[in-house]
Amino acid sequence: MRALFAVSEVAPWVKTGGLGDVAAALPRALMSAGCGVRVLVPAYPAMMKACGERRALARIDSPGGRFPASTLWEAVLTDGLTLWLLESPECFSREGNPYLDAQGHQWSDNALRFGLLSRVAALLSAPGSPVDWHADVLHCNDWQSALAPAYLRYLHGDEGAASIVTIHNLAFQGIFDATECAPLGLPERALTLDGVEFHGKLSFLKGGLQCCDLVTTVSPTYASEILGPEYGCGLEGLLRYRADRVSGILNGIDTEVWDAARDPALASNYDSHSLDAKAANKLALQKELGLAPDPQRMLFGVVSRLTEQKGLDLLLEIGDALCEEGAQIALLGSGDRAMERGWRDLAARRPGGCAAVIGFDETLAHRIEAGADAFVMPSRFEPCGLNQMYSLRYGTPPVVRRTGGLADTVVDATPQALADGGANGFVFEEASAPALFDALHRAIATFGDPRTWRAIQRAGMRADFSWSGAAARYLEAYRAAVRLRET
Ligand code: ADP
Repeated sequence: MRALFAVSEVAPWVKTGGLGDVAAALPRALMSAGCGVRVLVPAYPAMMKACGERRALARIDSPGGRFPASTLWEAVLTDGLTLWLLESPECFSREGNPYLDAQGHQWSDNALRFGLLSRVAALLSAPGSPVDWHADVLHCNDWQSALAPAYLRYLHGDEGAASIVTIHNLAFQGIFDATECAPLGLPERALTLDGVEFHGKLSFLKGGLQCCDLVTTVSPTYASEILGPEYGCGLEGLLRYRADRVSGILNGIDTEVWDAARDPALASNYDSHSLDAKAANKLALQKELGLAPDPQRMLFGVVSRLTEQKGLDLLLEIGDALCEEGAQIALLGSGDRAMERGWRDLAARRPGGCAAVIGFDETLAHRIEAGADAFVMPSRFEPCGLNQMYSLRYGTPPVVRRTGGLADTVVDATPQALADGGANGFVFEEASAPALFDALHRAIATFGDPRTWRAIQRAGMRADFSWSGAAARYLEAYRAAVRLRET
C-alpha cells in the first residue's frame, strides 16, 4: 500500500493544533506498519529550514488555473520519513501562522494557497504525475487539502488514486467566493450541488466530502455526532447521505514525547508505580507560576486554544468560586482576545489561586500535565482531543464534557465504573458552568480519598493510546477505499 498524505502543517516545525501532531505521527506509524508514505506539505520557511538536505523532484509549471509555478522537493528525514515540500514563494514563503496574518485574519489568498496544495496533491495522484511514485490512496486532511478529490474528479476523470478525506475539525471548511473557482482551475460544472458548491459559495471541505471515496474523522463518537445538526456545521445532510462512507478512527498520541517516566521537562519523573514522585512536579509548577505552594489544594490544569469550542469561558465563569473554595487553576493558552483578557483578569484577582500564561509553550504544557492534579477540558465539541490522553497517561485525571473523542477516552468515575476498575476521570453532559462545577466538585471530593484517586490515576495510565492501533485502522480504511474505487 502506498499513500500520499497531504496536509497543511507538520509538527514540530509548523503546528497550530492537533492536526500538526497527527501529521507528524500517523505517517510514521503507517510506515512502521509497512505502508509506503509520502507527506506532501507546503514549503513554509520553517519546513525548508528543517529540511536542509533535499533534492528537487519536479517543477510544476502550469497545473491549470492561475497558480504560480512551484517546485516539489523531496527530503528524507533521519528516521526514513519522506516529506514532499511544495515550494511556491508567492504562496508559502511567509513567516508566522500558516493560515492567519499578524492581525489574526485569514491570509487573503488562502483559496489560491491551499488550492495549490490540493491541486498538486491531485496531480501527484493521477496518471501523468510528474513523479515516478504512484500512490494507491490520496489521504487529505481538513479543508486545506480537501479540494484534491474534486480535482481528481473534474480534471482527471476519476482516474487517479482512491481518496480519503479526514476531518480533524468540521468547524473549519475553507469557504470562499464562487468566483475563486476559475482561478483555481475548476470547471463551471464543478460548482453544483453534487460538486464544490455550498450555499452559493465554493467550499473546499464540502467538495472533498462529496468527491472522495471515504470520509474518516478522528474519533468514533465525533463521526456519529457530525451526522446531526448540533455538530454537523451545515454539512450534516451531505454526511448523512454518505453515512456508509463515514467512520471514526481515534488519534493516537506520541508516547515517547509524552512519557512521564522520561520527560526531560519535568522536575521529577514518575510512572504508575511511583506516583508519589508526581508531587514534586506539582510543587515545582506552583512555584513556577506563582501559585501558593500547597500540596493539599487541588490544582486544575488547562492547556488549550482559547476559543468558543474549548468551553473555557465556562471555567472562567466559576473561576472565582473555585479559588474561593481553595482550588487552584494553572492555565496555558492563547486565542480569542476577550477570553485571554478574562483569564488574565481572573489571575490578577486571585494571586496564588489562579495563574494564566497567555501564549504557546510546549515544555510548560508538559509541566502542567504532570504537575496538575486534574486536567480540565469542558469542550463544546471535540473531534478527538489530545490533551485528555496526555493527562490520562500522566496520571492527571481529566474532567471533560461528554463529546467526541473525550467521550471515547474518558470513563466517568461512577460507582459502577469505580467498582469495575474502569473509571479514569470525570465526565459531565451539559455545556454549562453549573454542570462543569458539579464535575469539578466530584473530582475534588474524590481527590480527598487518596486510595480511590490512585485507582483512577492508574486506570488512566494503563490505557494504550499509541499510534500503532490507529495506523492499523487507517490501513484498513485505505484498503476499503481502494476496493470501493475498483468496484
Ligand atoms: P486542537 O487541535 O483542537 O487545538 P487538541 O487537543 O487536539 O486540540 O490538540 C492540541 C495540541 O496543541 C496539543 O498537543 C496541546 O498540548 C497543544 N497546545 C494547545 N495550546 C497550547 C499552548 N498554549 N501551549 C502549548 N501547547 C498547546
